[in-house]
Amino acid sequence: MSNELRWNPVLGTWIIVAAKRQKRPWRPKDYCPFCPGAEETGYGWEVLTLPNKFPALRPDAKPSLKSEDIYKVRPGYGYCEVIVETPQHEGDLCDLTLENLKKVVDLYAERYEKLGSDPKIKYVFEFRNKGALIGVSLTHPHSQLYALPFVPPRIRRELVQARKFYKRRKKCLFCHIIELEKKTRVRLLYENEDFVLFMPFFAMWPYETHIYSKRHIQNIPQLTEEERYSLADILRVSTKMYNSLFGFDLPYIMAIHQSPTDGKKYPYYHLHVEFYPLHRDAKKIKYAAGIEWGAWTFTYDGLPEERAQQLKHSLRKAIKDEKVLGRICD
Ligand code: ZN
Ligand code: ZN
Ligand code: FE
Repeated sequence: MSNELRWNPVLGTWIIVAAKRQKRPWRPKDYCPFCPGAEETGYGWEVLTLPNKFPALRPDAKPSLKSEDIYKVRPGYGYCEVIVETPQHEGDLCDLTLENLKKVVDLYAERYEKLGSDPKIKYVFEFRNKGALIGVSLTHPHSQLYALPFVPPRIRRELVQARKFYKRRKKCLFCHIIELEKKTRVRLLYENEDFVLFMPFFAMWPYETHIYSKRHIQNIPQLTEEERYSLADILRVSTKMYNSLFGFDLPYIMAIHQSPTDGKKYPYYHLHVEFYPLHRDAKKIKYAAGIEWGAWTFTYDGLPEERAQQLKHSLRKAIKDEKVLGRICD
């Protein structure tokens, strides 16, 4: 069993290579490893972090071969963890209570700080895959994290763009985007005291939305207690909105974008969360295919502004009788 990073000299990116992860042990069909009382979880918790049983990265990683010429190999050093979000076996973020989801946010902060303090960890990537369509085998609500020994390319790219903008315009790119969205308003969906939810002007996925913190900060640990409740609120609202869009639980990828943990300062970066649902309508999926994968160029069928209106409509339905901390943006 080996875990390694292989350098792609053509694209300038690392690939995480984990040799055959052992076959999952047989489990009774109705056994959930994340439910209270399971072997790894025990009782008396609301949120919980567990090491991933089949990690792509590990602290004792051994490569399967040595570097040769431009074929660089490094140990697949790092951590993969699961964040179990509730003792309840089914549901989405919107099915958690505000109090419970706030504890999830606290755990995002705690793991980011803890794993990020390892000098070899350069980035803590926290994310959530939802739905069988995304390949989630366990329905028990959970997030994941990868503590990486490098800053991943998408984040690198955002950092470069944000730094350039900061130099040229003397302000934060993300703060500026909030201003533009508030001026135009057509893609704006919901806001509370501390966060705003909108469909970006530059959406790549049909129903992509982003959550930006109103305060210019770089990561979740910097959030105050109040802001953590606000983040929990807006996460509940956005998933409620998604689940009322087509009348079924919408599969999505949720990515949290925070500053790297490589010891450098990133004053020009800005904490945000991105949702990528895969559907283009109730029955069709948007695939990343030839143009998207082969050329890294996204095509968007339709208009983001029209889909934003559709989302706002389902948002209205979704939170009509709900207690929320913010308001719909009209
Ligand atoms: Zn369960
Ligand atoms: Zn900012
Ligand atoms: Fe981002």
